[in-house]
Amino acid sequence: MSRADIAEKILARMGIAGAGDGVRDEDGWRPGNGPPIVSVEPTGAHEVARIGSCDRDDYDVVVEGARDRFHEWRARPAPVRGELVRALGAELREHKEALGELVAFEMGKIRSEGLGEVQEMIDICDFAVGLSRQLYGLTIASERPKHRMMEQWHPLGPVGIVTAFNFPVAVWAWNAAIAAVCGDTCVWKPSPRTPLCSIATQHLADRAMARCDAEGVWALASGGADVGTWIAEDPRLPLVSFTGSIRIGREVAAKVAGRLGRSILELGGNNAIIVAEDADLDLATRAIVFGAVGTAGQRCTSTRRVFAHAKVVDELLGRLTRAYSTVKIGDPLENGVLMGPLCSEASVKAFEAALVAARAQGGTIVRGGEVVPGGGYFVEPTIVRAPRQEDFPIAHDETFAPILYVFSVDSVEEAIDAQNAVTQGLSSAIFTESMRHAERFLSPIGSDCGIANVNIGTSGAEIGGAFGGEKDTGGGRESGSDAWKAYMRRQTCTVNWGGELPLAQGVEFV
Ligand code: NAD
Repeated sequence: MSRADIAEKILARMGIAGAGDGVRDEDGWRPGNGPPIVSVEPTGAHEVARIGSCDRDDYDVVVEGARDRFHEWRARPAPVRGELVRALGAELREHKEALGELVAFEMGKIRSEGLGEVQEMIDICDFAVGLSRQLYGLTIASERPKHRMMEQWHPLGPVGIVTAFNFPVAVWAWNAAIAAVCGDTCVWKPSPRTPLCSIATQHLADRAMARCDAEGVWALASGGADVGTWIAEDPRLPLVSFTGSIRIGREVAAKVAGRLGRSILELGGNNAIIVAEDADLDLATRAIVFGAVGTAGQRCTSTRRVFAHAKVVDELLGRLTRAYSTVKIGDPLENGVLMGPLCSEASVKAFEAALVAARAQGGTIVRGGEVVPGGGYFVEPTIVRAPRQEDFPIAHDETFAPILYVFSVDSVEEAIDAQNAVTQGLSSAIFTESMRHAERFLSPIGSDCGIANVNIGTSGAEIGGAFGGEKDTGGGRESGSDAWKAYMRRQTCTVNWGGELPLAQGVEFV
């Protein structure tokens, strides 16, 4: 069976035939008049589909539709809006296997991680349905007699969602499920590297919308950088949620800020695990291997740096090397495979370039380091023993590949300083049995990242917490906790139920 046939078969299991259209709004699917998007699966590097994309006119029609729909959608009670998200969750439950396999096929993460990504969508739907009855505001004591002051949250408007290739479906769901219960409509521009994943997801969303008389709440505007730029510059979209690299995120942030819009930025990470002298090395090894090798190092939360105490670094390197030698590389849909390919030729080149730099800067490759020959974008998971981080500039970059830099340190304090010495601030972890080390790491003088874990690796967050990072990672928060507030506008209301008109701060004006 050809690779294109496999894609077609997976889509057919979800009841999707002929996935060539790239634009979907309230009026249905159409190809779009923009340049075609080519889906290349990374396992064999074969073209598997060509999909239409938006030109400027298509894009304007989609955004106008989202605006019109918003005016009606915002007036529905939030728990009724929750019914749409409940229906989406049901579609995802029914098609979890097929959608998860499509993610594995087109993006390259292994099947189990593909299914995990769809489970994350289901989880956020459950969370959002509950949230639809909990969009709470505060009641605040007024200083004036017979006055009541309160805060309420209203829908904001249509949201532009721009997503990255590595979580081709879950990141849309994090945004779309929360935005929908908050009363917002959405225009999604997915990564052009994973168009089939977004088209399949949109088809499942279509069925949920049809069931809830909610056509047009979630729209799809496929395309490349141009569509992303239109979203960033578009004043009709008061909020832009952007997930991607720091370089592009910086451009998007400037454009959105230039029109005084709001953005949620979920950008690159450079995540570290600290292994203290007293760490449980068995736990630490397993967490590091999952964090560094999982998704072939292509998670924003992938473990890229390890700071191990000098007394345990050799033992840890030995354990990591042995564990790496058992990692089976291959077709992500095959049983037993733990690491699939990188997503593109450009990613393979970035892997090679980072290792050239690492060697030139004094790093030693302890394990891996090679491109795997024979078609597809496969590389070996790689461990580099690194000199001091200040002498090793390559460790400051996020190379989206399975490269792990291991540093030796003399104390937890030194490790925390080194961990924080990069510009990114997404995820971090410490392995220790010491309460003092753990609490220092979590304290204001500890990790400066948006995520800080103790005896858990850097990747694999749950949806219940707010997800995101500090510094160049962008400061955005998505998913659980009170991240929903970014999708709504806050209103402070004061009601005077007395017969006088007292002024605040005791001001008299008679
Ligand atoms: P990317 O920055 O190349 O692309 C991201 C999205 O931006 C794509 O949809 C792309 O088409 C679009 N885009 C490209 N140029 C644009 C422009 N000029 N204006 C507007 N949009 C534009 O990122 P990628 O390679 O797809 O994904 C990998 C990156 O994403 C990594 O840096 C990773 O850390 C990051 N990421 C972060 C998170 C997070 O939650 N922090 C999650 C996933 C991925």
